[in-house]
Amino acid sequence: MTSNLLDHDLEGLIAFCEQLGEKRFRATQLFRWIHQKGASDFDQMTDLAKSLRQKLAGSARIEGPKVVSRHESADGTIKWLFDVGAGDVIETVFIPETDRGTLCISSQAGCAVGCRFCSTGHQGFSRNLTTGEIISQLWFTEHFLRQHLGRDERVISNVVMMGMGEPLQNYSQLVPALKVMLDDHGYGLSRRRVTVSTSGVVPMIDRLGGDCAVALAVSLHAPNDALRDNLVPLNKKYPIAELLAACTRYQSAAPRDFITFEYCMLDGVNDQPEHARQLVALMKTHAANGLSCKFNLIPFNPFPASGLTRSDMPQVMLFAKILMEAGIITTVRKTRGDDIDAACGQLAGDVQDRTGVDQRMAAQRQGMLGGVKVVVVKGNDA
Ligand code: SAH
Ligand code: SF4
Repeated sequence: MTSNLLDHDLEGLIAFCEQLGEKRFRATQLFRWIHQKGASDFDQMTDLAKSLRQKLAGSARIEGPKVVSRHESADGTIKWLFDVGAGDVIETVFIPETDRGTLCISSQAGCAVGCRFCSTGHQGFSRNLTTGEIISQLWFTEHFLRQHLGRDERVISNVVMMGMGEPLQNYSQLVPALKVMLDDHGYGLSRRRVTVSTSGVVPMIDRLGGDCAVALAVSLHAPNDALRDNLVPLNKKYPIAELLAACTRYQSAAPRDFITFEYCMLDGVNDQPEHARQLVALMKTHAANGLSCKFNLIPFNPFPASGLTRSDMPQVMLFAKILMEAGIITTVRKTRGDDIDAACGQLAGDVQDRTGVDQRMAAQRQGMLGGVKVVVVKGNDA
C-alpha cells in the first residue's frame, strides 16, 4: 500500500522524503504542490526531477475524499458529504460571508460525547478520522472552490473544527492537520482564524496550548454542573470549574485574548433569565482569576429524536441582554444553510443510530434536569 501524502504535516513529509533519500527542500516543494496548488498527480510537478516523480509514483499517492454529494443553499452555503468507507459519511460545510470564507470541518465519524441536543451525538461514535481525512476536507474544498468561482487566490480564510466529532478526542490526528492549515508552505492561515471547538476535554486543552495554540471555542451550554451533566455528559468527567480553569490557562498561549463560549439555546431547558444570571455569576468568579470570554448564543437546530425545541427569539434576546448588561460580549449566531441541513448539529442528516444512543437518551430524558422545565415535543421539526 502506498502512503497517502495528505497524512503528513511538513515535518512528516520531510521524514518521508528523507527515507527516499531526498533533501528537505524537496519535501517543501512537494508540500507546496499538494496544498498550495492542489496537485494530485506527480506528473504535474514539473520542477521536481523526473527520477523523483517516478520514485513518488511508486511509493506514494495524493488521495482526496470521495464525494457522495454537494448541496448549495440559497444563501451560498455549500455542504459536501464524503464517504470515508465502511458506511461512514462525514460532512464539510463552506460558509461564505462578505469579508471571509469559513470552512467547517469534521474530526470524527460520529461522536462519543453524546450531547443531547446534537444529532451527531445521537448517532454514536464510529471512528476517528486520520490526519489525511481531516486536512483533505480543506484540500479538496479550497481547490474545488477556486475552480468553481474562477479564482486563483485563497477562498477559505477561516477554519472551524465544528463539524462532526469532538476534535480533542482525536488529538494525535488533529494536531498535524492543524499544522498544515497554519504552515506558510501549506494554507498559511493565521492562528486566530483556525478555531478548535470542544465540549471540554480538559487535559487536551492544556496540550493544545503547548503543541498548537489556535483559537479556542468551548461548548458550555449550561451555567451549573447539574444541568451540564445532563446536556454534555463529558461534564461528569470534567466539571465546569475544571473546564474554566483550563480555559484560563489556555489564554496565555491563545492567539486571541478571549475564549469563545458557545451556548445552544434550548427552550425551557437552559434559556431562562435565571440561567443567564447564574452564568454572569460564574463568569465573574473566573474573570477574577483572569478568564476573559465572549458568548455566542446558538439558536438550537431541532431534530425529532432530541425531544428539544429552539428558544424563541425574544427569549434569546433577553438572555443576551442580561449577559451584555453584565459586561459580557455576546453575539447571537445566524443560522446558515438551513435549507440544506448544514446548520450546526444537523450534520448527521439521516445517518442511522448505530449504538442505540437515542433510546438511552430518551430514557434519561424522563429523569432529567432537577427543577427545570422540560419540554418534550414529539416529531418536532420546526
Ligand atoms: N464537538 C465539538 C465540535 C463540534 S459541534 C463541540 O461540541 O464543540 C459544534 C457546535 O455545534 C458546538 O458548539 C455544538 O454544541 C453545536 N451544536 C451541536 N448540535 C447543535 C444543534 N442541534 N443546534 C445548534 N447547535 C448545535
Ligand atoms: Fe460531539 Fe460536539 Fe455533538 Fe457534543 S456537540 S455530541 S461533543 S459533536
